[in-house]
Amino acid sequence: MAQARLTIDLGALRANWRTLAQKAQAEAGAVVKADAYGLGMDRVAPALAEEGARRFFVAQAEEGAALRRTLGAGPEIFVFSGHMAGDADLIRGANLVPMINSIDQMLRHVEGLPGHPFGIQLDSGMNRLGMEPAEWGALRDIALAQNPALIMSHLACADEPDHGMNAHQLRLFRQMTDGIDVPRSLSATGGILLGPEYHFDVTRPGIGMYGGLPFIDARPVVSLSIPVIQIRDLEPGESVGYGNSFVARNPMRVATIGAGYADGILRAMGPKASLWAGESRCKVLGRISMDLIGVDVTALHSAPEALELLGQHQSVDTLADWAGTIGYEILTSLGNRYARDYVGA
Ligand SMILES: *Cc1c(COP(=O)(O)O)cnc(C)c1O
Repeated sequence: MAQARLTIDLGALRANWRTLAQKAQAEAGAVVKADAYGLGMDRVAPALAEEGARRFFVAQAEEGAALRRTLGAGPEIFVFSGHMAGDADLIRGANLVPMINSIDQMLRHVEGLPGHPFGIQLDSGMNRLGMEPAEWGALRDIALAQNPALIMSHLACADEPDHGMNAHQLRLFRQMTDGIDVPRSLSATGGILLGPEYHFDVTRPGIGMYGGLPFIDARPVVSLSIPVIQIRDLEPGESVGYGNSFVARNPMRVATIGAGYADGILRAMGPKASLWAGESRCKVLGRISMDLIGVDVTALHSAPEALELLGQHQSVDTLADWAGTIGYEILTSLGNRYARDYVGA
């Protein structure tokens, strides 16, 4: 079989969620947008619900409707993009809670679904989603009279604890919400790690549950094993892969493995990347192709059946460093061509 194998450890996922939950007095929600960061919302969300998560967050109403089918009635499902035109049937049918981002969205919501639950998203400086202070000032009394389920904002720099933006956003969020008797939420993974004044009533961990930074103590959740399709010996002067970008100086042995950039193994990682055969590190040789990668297995005593790209030796953040990106992008890029095993549920 040439198919690579992605193993998702639901036990580690649950442990990570629990550890993040225990770091705060607040109730921990769970962010499962983008198919649970590419790991499969239909398996991830029920595992988190079993662990005790009662509030889930998604980016779009369509994701929320799929999540409702998975979770059934009970858990609250919040939609970051709020109430977009055309969403009313989904929001009602799946009993979603749109996070209202503007006066326009508020009008759409009360006209289209009077009495249906909603939350409020405030912009405290990121300039991405939510109402700014002036807009919130104009809407506040009307919105509060209708009993929002949650008021939230989002931090721009929470992965940099010393960044002045954190305290600035905290101050602004407090100015906009102090004295309001509605549950409040400010922190994703990074904010949870900033400390208790950032926690409020509900936290929204995502990446940390999935084993990524900035949650440095996360247990690895994903491992990726790629089968060796062919092994060949090179003479000095022979090259490997497109563009002849690697040329052997010494005799060496190359394994061609069965995954590539079509599977989210970013071509930009290029020659910085390596894989593991047990405890031996094996470097990538030449360019990453769509479905194949050449790997140096000269030092191995026996021909490996597969090599590990993600696992105990290296994380999504290791790969992200090689590619000049972040663990989030590595996770959400993992393709649909893997055999997926869910373990440890
Ligand atoms: C994605 C997202 C989260 C989760 O962030 P992590 O850094 O993955 O923990 C929380 N809140 C909002 C608004 C988000 O967009």
